[in-house]
Amino acid sequence: SSRFASSSFKAADLTVEKSHDPKPKPDPSTLVFGKQFSDHMLTIHWSEKGGWEAPQIKPFQNLSLHPATSALHYSVQLFEGMKAFRGADNHIRLFRPMLNMERMYRSADRCCLPAFDKQELLECIKKLIEVDQEWVPYSSNASLYIRPTYIGMEPSLGVSRSGQALLFVIVGPVGPYFATGTFNPVSLLADPRYVRACRGGVGAYKMGGNYGPTIAIQTEALRQGCQQVLWLYGEDEEITEVGTMNLFIYWTTEKGERELVTPPLDGIILPGVTRQSLLDLAREWGEFKVTERTVVMKEFLEALKAGRVREVFGAGTACVVCPVGSLLYKGQVLHYLINCPEVLHKFNLYSMLSFDSKLY
Ligand code: PMP
Repeated sequence: SSRFASSSFKAADLTVEKSHDPKPKPDPSTLVFGKQFSDHMLTIHWSEKGGWEAPQIKPFQNLSLHPATSALHYSVQLFEGMKAFRGADNHIRLFRPMLNMERMYRSADRCCLPAFDKQELLECIKKLIEVDQEWVPYSSNASLYIRPTYIGMEPSLGVSRSGQALLFVIVGPVGPYFATGTFNPVSLLADPRYVRACRGGVGAYKMGGNYGPTIAIQTEALRQGCQQVLWLYGEDEEITEVGTMNLFIYWTTEKGERELVTPPLDGIILPGVTRQSLLDLAREWGEFKVTERTVVMKEFLEALKAGRVREVFGAGTACVVCPVGSLLYKGQVLHYLINCPEVLHKFNLYSMLSFDSKLY
């Protein structure tokens, strides 16, 4: 049950106002992540007085916000990231969208924003994608990125529960996340002075406030010649996440077993949809041990030294799986480039095929 119960909006009440001047669609080969948006957006307003208004699909436009809006001052804000793909059969598919709706619901609860019906929101999002279906790229390595966002719109400076809120969804075509391309291994900066989230905090929720402060560290990584940040935590330097991806290690344990390991959902890890999918797949395959447990830097470095690390990769919606090629840690570059990452390749092939939910 939610901290902030509320009867939901209904997809059946949705109104659609079509844009009169649709924009030209960009060439899929030139797409930059998150810079292009479609012709329409979904907005759903809520207020203490009136409850949920009818959901609206309308031309993509700026928002008008009171300067005291709580989202702007106190980060009463959360978001989701998911994708729609156009298959070779020309059908459009969403990847396990209900998992995103569930995570969004949990984030809303933690932000003290009113609850909603997850299925009704998904229906509204499907309608938006239907209206903008020509924006789903006709390409196998591009997709339509979907950004549901939910903000507190309380027009006052008190740090208190928002009496007004706006749930909106914008979508736009995206190509592969990293400029280097999907299968080029990334280099990581691991600096124990910085943390992404902490126990008892909100790292497990997809709130904007978790992301803004990472930009400075990501910039530091780039300055030191690395592409992404490996987030460590605590005195024993737990390995937690990579940039905005969950982390997986495929290695041979000290006992000589093959194991796929990823940190457990203990509050500092974002419960990724891709993470869950890889765990589900690997357990179904039953080819190696699959473990959710904490790995600390010392243990990882020992395994690396002993030649037991076979593959390290990040997993997330943006890139699906992304191999890690090297690590900069305490001034030392550690390489563990694997020429033929078997498990990673297998995931990349299978993950798309086994979990789709067809839109049309
Ligand atoms: N960790 C963090 C910190 C993230 O922002 C994301 C992206 N949502 C992920 C992991 C991967 O989650 P998902 O597979 O749902 O995209």
